[in-house]
Amino acid sequence: MNKSVRVRYAPSPTGYPHVGNIRTALFNWLFARHHGGSFIVRIEDTDVTRKVKGAVKGILDGLRWLGLDWDEGPEVGGKYGPYFQSQRLEIYSELAERLISQGDAYYCYCSPQRLKEMRAEQVKRKQPPGYDRLCRDLTQEERAQKETEGITPVIRFKAPLGGQTRFNDLIRGEVVFDNNTIDDFILLKSDGYPTYHLASVIDDHLMEISHVLRAEEWLSSTPRHLLLYRALGFEPPQFAHLPMLLGSDRSKLSKRHGAVSITEYREQGYLPEAMVNFLALLGWSLDDRTEILSREELIQSFSLERISRTAAIFNRDKLNWMNGVYIRNLTAVQFFEAVQPYLMMNIPAGEALISSENYVRDILPLIQERARTLAEVAELAQFFFIDQLDYESSLLVGKDMSHQSAIQALEAAQQRLSQLEAFDAGSLEGVLRPLAVELGLKTGQLFGTLRVAVTGRTAAPPLFQTMAVLGKERCLRRIEAALARL
Ligand code: GLU
Repeated sequence: MNKSVRVRYAPSPTGYPHVGNIRTALFNWLFARHHGGSFIVRIEDTDVTRKVKGAVKGILDGLRWLGLDWDEGPEVGGKYGPYFQSQRLEIYSELAERLISQGDAYYCYCSPQRLKEMRAEQVKRKQPPGYDRLCRDLTQEERAQKETEGITPVIRFKAPLGGQTRFNDLIRGEVVFDNNTIDDFILLKSDGYPTYHLASVIDDHLMEISHVLRAEEWLSSTPRHLLLYRALGFEPPQFAHLPMLLGSDRSKLSKRHGAVSITEYREQGYLPEAMVNFLALLGWSLDDRTEILSREELIQSFSLERISRTAAIFNRDKLNWMNGVYIRNLTAVQFFEAVQPYLMMNIPAGEALISSENYVRDILPLIQERARTLAEVAELAQFFFIDQLDYESSLLVGKDMSHQSAIQALEAAQQRLSQLEAFDAGSLEGVLRPLAVELGLKTGQLFGTLRVAVTGRTAAPPLFQTMAVLGKERCLRRIEAALARL
């Protein structure tokens, strides 16, 4: 790499970033870090009608959460700024004017109404869509006439009428477009804002971007960009278009497939390290088997050569599995710190107990093995913190048990447990196993009834340990409540 690597993530603040979008950010970041280059964030806010309030903050918070630090951009600045396109309008109009004076662009006075009719006509005739170049060759007088009518023109690019535009995509190889598929696209809108094409080309040049890594949906824009680079006399960067992301049914990725904005993953309790690992494997791989890679390993091994050309499949089950792996890898202290806010948020009634660090520390090892997200931890652990358990009383009556035998079992357990001095898992097992035999119940029956009584659920962490953590008083209270239900 002889030129220093400078890559950019250029989101449009039209909403909270989606997985696909964040994957683009991650690949750029990994590429920059791998080559010791710069990762730049540029906010492409030139579509005034689609701007969403709070979106820039959402984007930056998302990057920060994932640990994708940027070397230049909003908040950190840099010598190529400003990094908001809306603050660079003069640059764009100046260069658009230059294209006009060179004869590579022209003013177009067509009204939205006329363009609409033109498009309808094209659809009717089954012609490809695109501007019909009506204003391309207006004479001086015709232009002057339009100006006196008070029409504010747009500026359009004078696309070549024949020939081809080709380039070497670093992932897809040689790509060729016939120029006759490129219409005279708009460069500068009548509101003075540039289009994506103009702003992106100018900024990538002025910010000295070396590689443009972006989603495949932008592939068809690239020939336009190359034509613009040539007209402006700029050397184009290298291009690499990342493979598409699809849902598990191979249709376009959407919420239906469990793909949500990065903010939502955070709220649901995915760990940023797991998220980074998962996103990195959406279209890139180290080999055909390695799934778990740390951030350092990703940086070290990331390369464009190992990005696939075929679409990547977003698999939410895999993400859950991976997040579970990362959760289990947390130390007790890390897990405690990660989980506490989720407990607070999801179990408000348990606040007092949640603040008791010792109690929570006893509980967490019982949950850590099982949870796939931090929100799930809160779900699985809820019964530790609130006494009012919500369950169907019929669950207390196990398979092949009668109502009466469930009552008997609970009463006997209540009696034995109240006499127990040491309330640890071993002692509990020591009295409860023989009790089952005494009652003529299978251990599964007695333990099942007890489990529902003390946890309110049929599946919970190991019973004796759970009861030991809950403590004698709480267990007895809950058995009493279960008896009252029966
Ligand atoms: N603003 C575009 C987007 O939101 C950037 C596309 C590009 O990277 O050129 O995806």
